[in-house]
Amino acid sequence: MSILYLAHTDDNGSLSKAAMETLGTAKQLADNLGRPLKVGLVGADVTQAAQSIGGCGAEAFFSVSGEAFGQSRYSTDAAACAALCTAAEAKIVLAPATARFARCLPGAAYRLGGRIDTNITALDAVDGNPLPTRWFYRQRMSGQVQRDMDSFDGPWVLTLSPGCAEPAEFPGEAALQAVDVPLDNLTRTTVTGVKKPDADAQTIRPDANLLIVAGAGWTKKQNDGQPHVKEAGEMLLDFLDKTKSSLGSSKSLVDLGSEGQDVLDFLTHLHQVGQTGSTPRHPKGLATCCHGEEPHVVGWRFINERRAINLDAGCGWAHGKADVLYVADAFAVMKKVNELLAK
Ligand SMILES: Cc1cc2nc3c(=O)[nH]c(=O)nc-3n(C[C@H](O)[C@H](O)[C@H](O)COP(=O)(O)OP(=O)(O)OC[C@H]3O[C@@H](n4cnc5c(N)ncnc54)[C@H](O)[C@@H]3O)c2cc1C
Repeated sequence: MSILYLAHTDDNGSLSKAAMETLGTAKQLADNLGRPLKVGLVGADVTQAAQSIGGCGAEAFFSVSGEAFGQSRYSTDAAACAALCTAAEAKIVLAPATARFARCLPGAAYRLGGRIDTNITALDAVDGNPLPTRWFYRQRMSGQVQRDMDSFDGPWVLTLSPGCAEPAEFPGEAALQAVDVPLDNLTRTTVTGVKKPDADAQTIRPDANLLIVAGAGWTKKQNDGQPHVKEAGEMLLDFLDKTKSSLGSSKSLVDLGSEGQDVLDFLTHLHQVGQTGSTPRHPKGLATCCHGEEPHVVGWRFINERRAINLDAGCGWAHGKADVLYVADAFAVMKKVNELLAK
């Protein structure tokens, strides 16, 4: 029973941080189970990727490469992953939970008669079997998944969430075995371009050191009886520009737009943190003008060091969940912070 580590290359031919994190976990699992580790790589050209992990001790390195496999596309990716699993005779497959693999691996597992558990956060080995841990109900409950591996023929595919393991470093030479995947009818969809803001205009930055969460308070009437939405927007953008922090938002704030209120126009639902938003993993978090449970409890569940600014000294959620609560006017605080940052 071999363990297959699957990874795809990034646009520049290298392996992502998430892929390196998964490799360390796959190697550890292979060691713990006493099973051989094999590697499967997908990409336009996987040479550079293979050389970055050639020293990982894998028994074999398989690859599916060529221009058609350079871009994320369900049909080619699912076929490539299924072919790699078959070539490696893998019973357990571990892959990073990237957007690309999230799309194609469930289909590949199904085609092979296997099973898949996604976004695992830790991986133990018990009685000769993997024992993955994952969150349920939007990260409110954590549980471990057991499967009877004899009850299905195909592989058990597991994807590991980014940020849950240390990235591995195993550079070295790797002898690649090319696996052929015929392209018949697989390339009907082509990516003709990618529309996205300049890197500098992005306000969602998963790798930033700090997540600043903006709440609906930024748009509410202030001491002078007036809302100051424009000023709030400028202040937040100025802070983001100076610190390159990532921006999150409460649901109430992003919803205001559809309710016809004055809004911070750079916010979208992609910024929303919480039960029906995202649960980012930045090292530090600062909640501003937020009251709700969602931004504080669920939204920054994985944030290590948390601070909040709220006018309301009795804000129960900030009290319970922030390491430091500044009872202050966020307009005044952020103005001062921006002045200090400008020096
Ligand atoms: C099924 C369901 C799913 C939900 N999912 C989500 C979710 O994913 N994410 C989410 O965020 N919410 C979610 N919600 C909504 C959530 O319960 C809260 O209603 C919402 O998060 C509150 O947003 P808020 O804290 O920005 O706004 P408010 O509750 O209006 O709080 C605004 C705060 O700003 C403070 N304030 C005002 N002016 C200033 C100032 N000058 N300085 C400092 N503080 C100031 C006020 O004191 C107040 O505490 C969900 C609700 C439901 C029912």
